[in-house]
Amino acid sequence: MLQANQLSKILKLSSSGLRYSSTATTKLFIDGKFIESKTDRWIDLHNPATNEIITRVPEATMDEMNAAVASAKRAFKPWSESSVLHRQQIMFKYQQLIKDNMKELANLITKEQGKTLPDAEGDVLRGLQVVEHCCSITSLNLGETMPSVAKDMDTMTFRYPLGVCAGITPFNFPAMIPLWMFPMAMVCGNTYVLKPSERDPGATMLLAQLAQDAGIPDGSLNIIHGAHDAVNLVCDHPDIRAVSFVGSNQAGEYIYERASKTGKRVQSNMGAKNHGIIMPDAAKENTLNQLVGAAFGAAGQRCMALSTVVFVGDSKEWIKDIKERAEKLVVNEGTTPGADLGPVISPQAKERICDLIQSGVDEGATLLLDGRNVDVKGYDKGNFVGPTIITNVKPNMKCYTEEIFGPVLVVLEAETLDDAINITNSNPYGNGTAIFTRSGATARKFINEIDVGNVGVNVPIPVPLPMFSFTGTRASFRGDTHFYGKQGIQFYTQLKTVTQLWREEDVDHSRAAVSMPVMR
Ligand code: NAD
Repeated sequence: MLQANQLSKILKLSSSGLRYSSTATTKLFIDGKFIESKTDRWIDLHNPATNEIITRVPEATMDEMNAAVASAKRAFKPWSESSVLHRQQIMFKYQQLIKDNMKELANLITKEQGKTLPDAEGDVLRGLQVVEHCCSITSLNLGETMPSVAKDMDTMTFRYPLGVCAGITPFNFPAMIPLWMFPMAMVCGNTYVLKPSERDPGATMLLAQLAQDAGIPDGSLNIIHGAHDAVNLVCDHPDIRAVSFVGSNQAGEYIYERASKTGKRVQSNMGAKNHGIIMPDAAKENTLNQLVGAAFGAAGQRCMALSTVVFVGDSKEWIKDIKERAEKLVVNEGTTPGADLGPVISPQAKERICDLIQSGVDEGATLLLDGRNVDVKGYDKGNFVGPTIITNVKPNMKCYTEEIFGPVLVVLEAETLDDAINITNSNPYGNGTAIFTRSGATARKFINEIDVGNVGVNVPIPVPLPMFSFTGTRASFRGDTHFYGKQGIQFYTQLKTVTQLWREEDVDHSRAAVSMPVMR
């Protein structure tokens, strides 16, 4: 486990460990050193449960950001030429260090992001699984070979790293999403520049410290902070070869376009409106519990939250039962034992969520459960919103067309499975969906006809494990290759195809052949 003095190196914490000092600042990580930014532009980071300032995040200067890219560029040659076994050993060590520091990482997430401690541990664990997957790089990075494609001639493909890669991450999974990116890129031999969310970079900083402790060389991973200028630098910098983005559509569309224009590979995971389809033959108790957990867990701030539910046929009789279960959830500060939902990220996020709830009421929907005035004892300044359920929602209402990203469940009804599939496929997003049924034939029809990239059958948040890839589609994704799994390896490598001829004796041709070689 890291000691308090090591943590303060990264976060300028007070000597007692995970409490921030009054002048806390978040460091940059450039060329293997945690350094104080020389910027005069700082972003105050508030604990969402109290709104107290807990650290200040720098908007790195141009010089600092260029230094980070230059450091990654310098580090690329030796790192890419290191043996695959060496990089694998570092990943083995890294996964152990993350496990050893799970509690510290979760604590940082709860303080800065607000989610409950058990949920924060889940955030770290799902990222850790990607690091564990990286340990199989010796199989994942195999190329292909074909001997004797012509007489004495063989062809083979090698996977090579790209160079300097960069990542831009959102606030809602401060450990998991950075871990989707830099370990995959680095184990393939790339070096990295990461810009975490300016709203909660603490866990990423600790992950960088642990990566250093695991043995990554100086410059192979760099962390810059900031907002628009940092994003623009990543998109435009000629020495960056690929950009991974996860976040909102507003930012993701912009980054995809801007970075693509400069010839980079880009993968951009964006917003969602995930539908849960409840069939009348579903196992009622289990389905309702799963639904409530997936709609309100993490205060609805998950890209795979089941934020929309479509009750098919008679299953609509169960709507009142979701209310009963949702009312029992405990809203509280995230480190408090027994808390089910923490606060949302900011007062602005709370205001936006409340406005979208009101828009539903104004447009004629029914507010079955209203969490806007939830009272959390001792935390009256926090950004809390309690579980909220809006029923009788129609697809043209704003609370349906917009991603709410809060603890709000929007309820629609459909006569048949075909109607429910049609509603889901007419929504622009294609991130995740789930059907609850006891019929294999119903599930099979749904899997085949639904136009969404990650599908659950009696599984509410079907985030694929890292041996697969996260395959969001339509408005939830821009790019060609997805995050982690085989697609992640493809994203972070380029192929080189070698055709070679080795002959014992030189063959004497009287003149050079100029027609296209057909290799027969
Ligand atoms: P966000 O887009 O506000 O921020 C993400 C990153 O982009 C941050 O690093 C931020 O600094 C930068 N950024 C923000 N606005 C920008 C702009 N206008 N131009 C350029 N860069 C900008 O997203 P967020 O609020 O941090 O995260 C929530 C969003 O992320 C939700 O829409 C959620 O669905 C989505 N998300 C998607 C996935 C997925 O895999 N599909 C996973 C997690 C979150």
